[in-house]
Amino acid sequence: MPDDNLIHLEVKRSWWDGSSKTACGLHVKRPEAVWTWFTSRTWCPTCKAADQAGK
Ligand SMILES: [Zn+2]
Repeated sequence: MPDDNLIHLEVKRSWWDGSSKTACGLHVKRPEAVWTWFTSRTWCPTCKAADQAGK
């Protein structure tokens, strides 16, 4: 079960159902929750690494 307390990096969004796939392989239904930049929540380590690697 996904840990909703972590911030995940969205890597692909489905056009047909609005869900997103994250860098760590999760599927989330609310992409806006993924892109919560202004928060004190902790980044998912896998997604954070993928984000840094992609820049
Ligand atoms: Zn993640």
